[in-house]
Amino acid sequence: MTLQAIKPEPGSTVGHYINGELVADSNRVIPVFNPATGAVSRHVAMASQDTVGRAIAAASEAFPAWRNTPPLKRARIMFRFKQLLEQHADEVIALLTNEHGKVLDDARGEFLRGVEVVEYACGAPELLKGEHTKNVGPNIDSWSELQPLGVVAGITPFNFPAMVPMWMYPMAIVCGNTFVLKPSEKDPSAPMLCARLFSEAGLPDGVLNVVNGDKEAVATLLSDPRVEAVSFVGSTAVAEYIYQTGTRNGKRVQALGGAKNHAIVMPDADMENAASALMGAAFGSCGERCMAISVAVCVGEETANTIVGKLQQRIDELKVGDGTDSNNDMGPLITGEHFEKVKGYVDQGVTEGARLVVDGRGLSVAGREDGFFLGACLFDQVKPGMRIYEDEIFGPVLCVVRVDSQEQAMGLIDAHEYGNGTCIFTRDGEAARYFADNIRVGMVGINVPLPVPVATHSFGGWKRSLFGDLYAYGPDSVRFYTHRKTITQRWPSGGVREKTQFSFPSND
Ligand code: NAD
Repeated sequence: MTLQAIKPEPGSTVGHYINGELVADSNRVIPVFNPATGAVSRHVAMASQDTVGRAIAAASEAFPAWRNTPPLKRARIMFRFKQLLEQHADEVIALLTNEHGKVLDDARGEFLRGVEVVEYACGAPELLKGEHTKNVGPNIDSWSELQPLGVVAGITPFNFPAMVPMWMYPMAIVCGNTFVLKPSEKDPSAPMLCARLFSEAGLPDGVLNVVNGDKEAVATLLSDPRVEAVSFVGSTAVAEYIYQTGTRNGKRVQALGGAKNHAIVMPDADMENAASALMGAAFGSCGERCMAISVAVCVGEETANTIVGKLQQRIDELKVGDGTDSNNDMGPLITGEHFEKVKGYVDQGVTEGARLVVDGRGLSVAGREDGFFLGACLFDQVKPGMRIYEDEIFGPVLCVVRVDSQEQAMGLIDAHEYGNGTCIFTRDGEAARYFADNIRVGMVGINVPLPVPVATHSFGGWKRSLFGDLYAYGPDSVRFYTHRKTITQRWPSGGVREKTQFSFPSND
């Protein structure tokens, strides 16, 4: 099959990719939208239990040979995958914008951060070396090695359809596991194309399988005993369900959930830079990022007045429209349903008594009147307890909260149920250091609004933003996708009779 044959064409139905073949399971299909036009661009098949079972069987069958493939050979295939991703970057990026709606530059950023994890995975032979100690006892040597788990499942959200799957399967696969990916049903084409590119790079059939679907497919992955581990990224309610169900079924699970990321603006901050950074972090990708800043906590009335004024000016200049037009800064929301939900939050914020400084609800984009566009919204005088403060809205809505001190700002962040990302804008090193040291959040920025760790570190939040012990990608992923085995060996010299020892072995 040529690569051309698997590129999702408009009007086609995206199926599944099992054991190196495209599989149609069209009992149930749902529409995939182009969010900029509101039109259905194609359909996606929802996998039945049988189809998911076939994918798990293919991964199980591929496991013994892949497990025994030398890490260096696995890494070479990974390297070819990286090269093919680079060659086909524009096609993947176009699919991201077509199905997610994010502007092309943003889609490129997502794609490149995914490729960085593939680059990290190319170094797996070094990461999988293990540890060795000679003479742990008389003539006894010991070593620890990292062995793959078997079949791993990955379940991913709509907001990073290329990058988040790449947080998972490159590291899982290079560690010797085989994989079944269940991407979001809202934008299935980019992960499908990437999986096919991996095959083109020489990955044996069955090592990476993709099933499209919804909770029926997920339930099958969680209950099948052949699946050893599950990586999940998505909303907190589903993350908690995945963690509880998966672990109850004896699987290793990491489940990354939602967020409500606060940025503190201190009175001594560079206000111009802080306002620019807030704009990108709040409205980039239409606020559909788990690391988006959705609350700006301003310390002091003067800070708040300055920041609100500067944000207002910048929102006036924000260009909202079709993501394929490179003049635009912000695209549409993912679906009409999500648009209604986000708009509902803005209505509720007004009812709750927050001051709606900029109202994006009336926006209409010329020529794209049926697209799912919501303009940037800015609330001031937001208070804890309001739904717009407590809930993850996942849209272009920034809430300003006014406080009197850094302690008060940090108290708010610590009291919030989520703990994914946060950031402080300040020129004061001591304040920044105190913040980084004490705040109860997993990823912290100092004058960096989106502190998404690079591929050599690991990604994860605290509190209800992550269920499990190990983070995504980076060094934690080697630990998540392997079992440690420690082997202790002695080769008695010929003829030496050894006495039975009843005491616990020690170096006494
Ligand atoms: P979602 O939870 O609705 O869906 C995520 C995945 O779970 C999808 O593959 C979906 O098909 C599946 N799913 C949905 N409902 C299910 C159910 N009831 N049972 C079983 N499976 C189900 O999330 P989304 O709307 O696609 O993505 C947005 C969410 O993801 C936001 O909350 C965002 O913060 C979060 N997110 C978190 C991170 C992180 O690293 N912490 C990264 C990206 C996105």
